[in-house]
Amino acid sequence: MTQQQPVTGQCLALDLVNSAYIVGGTRGRLVDSIGSPELLQDWCAQRVDQLAPAGQPGKLGDEDLNRVRELRAAIRGALEAVVNDHLVGPDDVQTLSDNVALAHRRVVLTSDLTIRYEWSEPDFGTRASMLIAEDAISLLAERAAGVHACEAPGCIMYFIPTTERRCWCSTTCGNRARVARHQRRMDNGD
Ligand SMILES: [Zn+2]
Repeated sequence: MTQQQPVTGQCLALDLVNSAYIVGGTRGRLVDSIGSPELLQDWCAQRVDQLAPAGQPGKLGDEDLNRVRELRAAIRGALEAVVNDHLVGPDDVQTLSDNVALAHRRVVLTSDLTIRYEWSEPDFGTRASMLIAEDAISLLAERAAGVHACEAPGCIMYFIPTTERRCWCSTTCGNRARVARHQRRMDNGD
């Protein structure tokens, strides 16, 4: 069964980071919505619009899964550094650069004014990794200051808030954080 990750639709890079999430708060369990090559394939199929330049989604294997998970760890590491006001680690930067260098694409305009891509690499999985890494690089270089880590206890999501004051990735987390705050007040006898 396809796992439905709770926070999606921000951008490819954030969607990938948020593909591993905790269900059930502080004592919850980690769910990986790309836990197997088949699940990774579903994840890509749900993002055909964003991954369209990579062409038709093909079958993915263990090698693709390992590469995408390594990419996910690097993007998470970079975001963790950003929200803590640290410099991004050289290994994470290297992983992003390596993934971007996996494939090159040339934009071609056809006579009916649609865009076609000519790739140096025929494989869908490799092209998809390249597109995700490219998205991560533009996120980090252009919008890093806008990325927040969810403040709810036990949540590991990153998101770009739609309003300035939003501290939680989802209403579920907002409610959980409010309950936890209320509980703390009760415990302190306020
Ligand atoms: Zn959250």
